[in-house]
Amino acid sequence: MENAAIIIIDMLNDFVHGSLKCERAMRIIPKIRKLIDYSHKRGIPIIFSNDAHYPQDAEVVNRWGKHAIKGTEGAEVIPELEPQEGDFIVEKRAYSGFFETGLDSLLRSLYGGKGAKTVILCGLHTHMCVRHTAADAFFRGYRVMVAKDAVDAFTEEDHVSGLKYLVEAYNAELKSVDEIISLWGQPTPQT
Ligand code: ZN
Repeated sequence: MENAAIIIIDMLNDFVHGSLKCERAMRIIPKIRKLIDYSHKRGIPIIFSNDAHYPQDAEVVNRWGKHAIKGTEGAEVIPELEPQEGDFIVEKRAYSGFFETGLDSLLRSLYGGKGAKTVILCGLHTHMCVRHTAADAFFRGYRVMVAKDAVDAFTEEDHVSGLKYLVEAYNAELKSVDEIISLWGQPTPQT
């Protein structure tokens, strides 16, 4: 798979245990951990796309209430997936990781300036932030892959319909973490 980058969306204390607690998030933690560990070994870039809200943000005021306020513990990545040296953190204030952030320019700077070509999305929620981030990746010309067992939503219905929409709208490729790892497991072609 050509020049991939892993984007981990909103795996933050508030989204997993806090004000937007999501029971179903627990089951994707080991899957994301596995993908991170493998990617570190292979030198595949890891980007954490994290909510870091101001209290007056539209999403906070008009929809979800206080969550992942910039600088608070709730806005930190859960300890199980704590970013390591060399990982990137890109803060966001809306659903999409691309909306008024430096994510696109970061992706284009990777691989010695050749840029990432494929984004592999995981995290929360399948039909919200994953969906909006997929949309903006698609329209910017990235190949969109979704780690289907490493994304989730509050309900099974939201998750399943969210995955279906990602395929229909953004031509997203749905693959399990093991399938993604096996894509890389093949020998690297000599250049
Ligand atoms: Zn938010």
